[in-house]
Amino acid sequence: MQKNKYYYILTFGCQMNKNDSERISGLLTSIGLKETKTPKKADVLFINTCSVRQHAEDRVFGFVREWQKFRINKPNLIVGITGCLPGRDKDGKLQKKLPGVDLFFPINELPTLARRLHELNPGLFPGSLDSVEEYWQIEPKLDKKYSAFVTIQNGCNNFCTYCVVPYARGQEKNRPLKEILKEIKALVKNGCLEVTLLGQVVNNYQAPDKKNFSKNNLFCHPELVSGSLGMPKQVRHDSMGTDHFAALLWEINQIKGLKRIHWTAADPQYFSDQQIQALTLLKQVNFLHLPVQSGNNQILKKMNRKYTRENYLKLVKKIKKVRPEIALGTDFIVGFCAETKKQFLDTVDLYKKCDFDISYHAQYSARSGTVAAKMFKDNVSREEKKRRWQVLQDLMEEITYRKNQKYLGQKNSVLVDNFVDGWCSGNSEEMKLTRFRGVPKMIGTIQPVKIIKTSTWILWAEKL
Ligand code: SF4
Repeated sequence: MQKNKYYYILTFGCQMNKNDSERISGLLTSIGLKETKTPKKADVLFINTCSVRQHAEDRVFGFVREWQKFRINKPNLIVGITGCLPGRDKDGKLQKKLPGVDLFFPINELPTLARRLHELNPGLFPGSLDSVEEYWQIEPKLDKKYSAFVTIQNGCNNFCTYCVVPYARGQEKNRPLKEILKEIKALVKNGCLEVTLLGQVVNNYQAPDKKNFSKNNLFCHPELVSGSLGMPKQVRHDSMGTDHFAALLWEINQIKGLKRIHWTAADPQYFSDQQIQALTLLKQVNFLHLPVQSGNNQILKKMNRKYTRENYLKLVKKIKKVRPEIALGTDFIVGFCAETKKQFLDTVDLYKKCDFDISYHAQYSARSGTVAAKMFKDNVSREEKKRRWQVLQDLMEEITYRKNQKYLGQKNSVLVDNFVDGWCSGNSEEMKLTRFRGVPKMIGTIQPVKIIKTSTWILWAEKL
């Protein structure tokens, strides 16, 4: 390997993709490459793609074209594409539209990257073997020490009719409990204070090695949870009565030195009573992201979401009973195939009833290969989708502004992530952006604060 070979990674999409890019980074670093923030300087250029929206996919083509000009000065340049786009390109049509791409593979084939590079240029990349067998075994190169993503599951079996993920990432695969705990312990040893557990349906986690749950794990003894708190019998568990995701949260809570646990994205259909109880565990942040997508039962059915608005509202009520002050986030898709104005009003109504703190709104766009693209007409006009999107956006701003006022005068804590011009900023326990006067060395620490002013998107505080 020659000295000072550089790589550059461009990441589109969700937190899962960001964590995948940290793994690509980890692997390339392990074979001697250095990271650069300047594409022109790189010897290996990667795009980690997202197929959830057409726009993100379209941008890939533009970058690949643009990068070809670097070949004039770098004839050995390697351009690679991974992520959702190769994952869903079963017939190879997308790859054909991308001349000038040397590597094209789905993310679960990442362990083969060192070998693929060697095959392309043995002179530059002498190592010829796959460095690891499993995706999970690749150590991510983290951006920051104090907060880390930890992927616990990959893929999805749910097949919501609008979604490309099951095609792009394949069947759900759960990571062994032992490996998850090992990774988090190592992160904490290295100064990590907060972990975000990632999975497409994170609360459907099933440990392939359940024997590794601790004997005294509260959630391996459902009768204790149900009995002590008067909850109805849990809705989902294995033959021993263990809810694996709640039990995993309990295990992570026992790790000394870790301060905050956050996870995304949960599916309402799998939310058990044990998981509701796990929201009260000490290190659980005071925030839950619970995607609902629509407030209308016919639309939910058409989306193949396996719950009703009544189930969702009941779940939110139960969650707020156990943790009344929890901040709630969600996702909505507006203008899904033939969604009427009346059906959309059910979404507005559900929004008001749940009093969300934050929500992400998408205007539906058909993704090729999905059931919705094959079976339903994308027939809500662009203008109407935009109008519905704006209705939710306005509602969110109004509700969030009002809800934030309750924090005035309250104590909180902030994991400091940034420092600019005398101001520290980071997330409160509710994962709300909070700013206060501080010093640069506070970055990466948790600081106690008192909220002195609120706005829609920022809580202003003073350090205690
Ligand atoms: S649960 Fe539905 S929306 Fe989420 S990744 Fe799976 S198919 Fe997509």
